[in-house]
Amino acid sequence: MNLEDQIQNLPTGPGVYLMRDQAGKVLYIGKAKNLRNRVRTYFGKSGDARFLLQFLMPKVRQVETFLTDTEKEALILENTLIKKHKPRHNIDLKDDKTYFSLRFSIQDKFPKLTLVRRVKRDGARYFGPYASSAAVKETLRILRSLFPLRTCNDANFRNRSRPCLNFQIKKCLGPCCGLVSPEKYGQLVQEVILFLEGKNSQLIELLQERMTAASENLDFEEAARIRDQIGSVEQTLEKQKAVSPTPNDQDVFAFHRQGDAWEFQILFCRRGILVGNKSFHFSRINLPEEEALSAFLRQYYAEEPSIPHEVLLPLPVEDEALFAEWLSEKRGGKVEVHAPRRGEKKSLVEMARKNAEHAFQKKVDEGENLSLLLQELKQKLRLRTLPHRIECFDISNLFGTLAVGSKVSFRDGKPDPSQYRHYRVHAPSFPDDYAMMYEVLKRRYAKLETDQEKPDLLVVDGGKGQLNVALAVLDELGLRDLSAVGLAKDKGPVAKKITERTADKIYLPNVKDPILLGRSGALRYLQRIRDEAHRFAITYHKKLRGKRGFQTLLDEIPGIGGVKKKALLREFGNLQKMQEASAERLGQVKPLTRKDAQTVFAFFHPPHGNCGMRNADCGMKDTKA
Ligand code: SF4
Repeated sequence: MNLEDQIQNLPTGPGVYLMRDQAGKVLYIGKAKNLRNRVRTYFGKSGDARFLLQFLMPKVRQVETFLTDTEKEALILENTLIKKHKPRHNIDLKDDKTYFSLRFSIQDKFPKLTLVRRVKRDGARYFGPYASSAAVKETLRILRSLFPLRTCNDANFRNRSRPCLNFQIKKCLGPCCGLVSPEKYGQLVQEVILFLEGKNSQLIELLQERMTAASENLDFEEAARIRDQIGSVEQTLEKQKAVSPTPNDQDVFAFHRQGDAWEFQILFCRRGILVGNKSFHFSRINLPEEEALSAFLRQYYAEEPSIPHEVLLPLPVEDEALFAEWLSEKRGGKVEVHAPRRGEKKSLVEMARKNAEHAFQKKVDEGENLSLLLQELKQKLRLRTLPHRIECFDISNLFGTLAVGSKVSFRDGKPDPSQYRHYRVHAPSFPDDYAMMYEVLKRRYAKLETDQEKPDLLVVDGGKGQLNVALAVLDELGLRDLSAVGLAKDKGPVAKKITERTADKIYLPNVKDPILLGRSGALRYLQRIRDEAHRFAITYHKKLRGKRGFQTLLDEIPGIGGVKKKALLREFGNLQKMQEASAERLGQVKPLTRKDAQTVFAFFHPPHGNCGMRNADCGMKDTKA
């Protein structure tokens, strides 16, 4: 059945639809009140079609549906199926276990406060969420310094015959051994709750009343303790910043979008106080804003974080009422979901949006926004496609000996060590960087057909010469559609003006002059790949050098026979010392002549490009480019 017929025959009830490609792979999952109408919108000339047709629709060959009794059931099923299939075009929030909440076991006779990742409906009170463990640990530390609650676990608590050290240092009232009444401990619990609820004035009033009562009862020691506690609480509360006049808990959502890259931001406001925020980044998501927001919300709350009284959104979503109903059910109390148009709540959403934009920009600046980075590379290097997979080659040798080549592979910004390769170069025994590069590239790309995934970009460490070698190899193998560039260090006048790292030059095919990318994330990414290729080549080269041995290596030096070799060994003892010696110092070793000394020095210090090393390992000059 063709796709059109499939759509005509779709049911009209609520449910979930799965779009599959030719091979049956799930590309996209969505939920709908009316399955047939919803799926049809993807094939219309407006609405979702605008966004999805270009990326998704050409690949869709099959639409599968699951009918549900209600739209809410569809919402739950959609989440489950997204987690199971992880479709490429859906927003998939990875299991995020970084949320922390404080659990106060108020159902116990002597409650304790603990740090938890999951909020359960178990009779305890939960406070948070806190986006970082540092934030929640700081809150716990403050609470323990202000309120002497028990900290031991339940088993320990039940089996104590004597209070622990916490009692001695006045950090616990000793409920394990009956040293405090449930009523007195209950007062403490009440104070902690007021503190965590942000009911600052009520807490201070309560403490003041207790202080007065203690002094009226002539318990001056207790009155002094409460006085100090009031001072500490006031100091701590001063640091908390109120952002909302409402006493309710709110989660405030906003996003910043550039192309297919998204940054979602959530501000957690508890009793009007901003207790934390959290950012989520997604790339390669081509959904309309409303659908992306709605999908994000469903994924986020499916993880069961603490659910507030109110959820503020940057724009209305289609299934707002359904979403509010679902959240109310999960929370066990009414939850309001809406997009404010004006006033304080609108300002909060705007604050979240600014935070999202800032977080997005920070990632761009740090080169972490892969989608933008790849787009930048595509544009700057004039590539036909986004360079998802990049392979980079480097050659390392010592004056033509022990030559090795390395290939490193990066997939979507990350190294893919399973695709790294070493090549022991057989070509010339004299230092010919081009011939060595030719051999390595030919051996690699002659096998390309058998590889499952072809690279989108080939990078050679070097300038025009190395790039021309790469282009010749690709031409010979009929791989002209594979893009190649050369990345070379620049030691010219430009490099002296700006830092060496930003002066690296990029050579493009059929372009006379190299291009400079300045301080861009794209250049940093290419440099990172090049440095990794270099590291990988050097490691192998050193390994071979170690195996071959010092003495055998000296055999490679022209004009240095047995007697001179022995003299050098006797004088220096090891390779490193010999490498570090100047030509003058080498000339002092008898019976070496001045010419011999220069030959030995040149052997250990060939122009850079012949050894492949460009760091402290060698100190040779770069002749590439
Ligand atoms: S004194 Fe008792 S109740 Fe308090 S922390 Fe120690 S063991 Fe637990």
